[in-house]
Amino acid sequence: MHDAYRGRPIVVAGAGVSGEAAARALRELGAVVTVVDGSTEALDLLAAQGFSVASGLPVEVALVVTSPGFRPTAPVLVEAAARGVEVVGEVELAWRLAHLPGRTAAPWLALTGTNGKTTTVKMLEAMLAAAGHRTIAAGNVGLPLVDAVDGPYDVLAVELSSFQLHWSSSLRPHTGALLNLANDHTDWHGSFGEYSRAKARILAADVALGNADDDAVRGLLAHAPAPQVGFTLRTPKAGQVGVVEHLLVDRAFPDVPGEGTELATLDDIGVPGDHNVANALAAAAMARSFGVPAAAVRDGLRSFVPEPHRNTLVAVLGDVSWVDDSKATNPHAAAASLASYRPVVWVAGGLLKGADVDDLVRQAAPRLRAAVLLGTDRAVLRDALSRHAPEVPVVEVARLDTEAMHEVVEAARSLARPGDTVLLAPAAASMDCFADYKQRGDLFADAVLSLR
Ligand code: ADP
Repeated sequence: MHDAYRGRPIVVAGAGVSGEAAARALRELGAVVTVVDGSTEALDLLAAQGFSVASGLPVEVALVVTSPGFRPTAPVLVEAAARGVEVVGEVELAWRLAHLPGRTAAPWLALTGTNGKTTTVKMLEAMLAAAGHRTIAAGNVGLPLVDAVDGPYDVLAVELSSFQLHWSSSLRPHTGALLNLANDHTDWHGSFGEYSRAKARILAADVALGNADDDAVRGLLAHAPAPQVGFTLRTPKAGQVGVVEHLLVDRAFPDVPGEGTELATLDDIGVPGDHNVANALAAAAMARSFGVPAAAVRDGLRSFVPEPHRNTLVAVLGDVSWVDDSKATNPHAAAASLASYRPVVWVAGGLLKGADVDDLVRQAAPRLRAAVLLGTDRAVLRDALSRHAPEVPVVEVARLDTEAMHEVVEAARSLARPGDTVLLAPAAASMDCFADYKQRGDLFADAVLSLR
């Protein structure tokens, strides 16, 4: 066992899934762990596992490991900073634990982006598995990295959020990929600049991969301190993975130098929309950077199973398609989603987290049959619709509880015509009316199915 953490007083801030995993990993290394959280309920669960718990920072503390839920302005983190105590996230801790002297660390293929992270990391996991690697998708997608680095894996498919990257300082993945960049979580980071800076940390890798079709990403990639590779929906140049007619083609890691290697066809991607082609390209480029054969990229795509609430077809009723994209929790995601269907009865609204919706509504306007708005910030969407799509009928559902979804679906039914898609792509977070995006999507699906 390593002594680097033995006897050290370490605070774990946040008693959620990653906090609990960090606390356990540190205890195994002999650290003196105290868990701090505002919720006594969460603390009780950890106290029952024998951890010391507290509501504030103890006198003795050598390191704080924070969960991504804590904002930099959380009192315990502000106090740690004032006392000169280092604060890291659970991801950074995992990286450090994996690289303790004498340990063999599996390489990380890590990605971030405003949207498409989970879809892409699951595609990557499928491709790596198809190539025979022992692997798992970990990080923001569910399994804490402190657990993943302890597992029997020879490569990790890692999804990171901007929050996790904010609290990471020494990660150096084998490949770091930035999928796209748009305004989100400004409330947490303080500004778009800070959010972008956190995201760009992923590019400090042995191979830096970025979306060549995204201006903001291209700008950051150009400054990456690593060999740069791009992915694009267009014909790939040398150093890129892209699309030629109906084929995904690799000109970044080709089998024959100077040529393009065919990886898969567009039909091998079982999920709709150009945004999912971009996700498949990113996953393919990451896999190829690790030496995955073309056939395994294709087989991985074919075996990929999408997560629920992401452009999921719920039902086709009377020639109207009802699609649940409840995971479209910001305008950038909703824009990608809306671009995949036409004509659309758009179900939107919730908590906009300070995001601007003008561009979204302007772009979507020509596709819209009608809009049904719900949630706290629906007036922002209504006003944008009246500016950019004044002829589009809008129905607002005022109630802010789970029953709202029945009224939403009723309204959408009365507005939809044969051939339309009713698309739940809220562009907003769900917590004003629902427990989370999953409940929002489930209630939408329930209400739709009850129309039958
Ligand atoms: P994340 O893990 O980043 O939230 P997901 O793969 O879960 O990403 O997708 C969330 C939503 O984002 C999807 O439901 C879809 O609306 C949208 N989306 C997915 N991929 C992209 C992409 N490449 N660009 C823009 N939007 C996307």
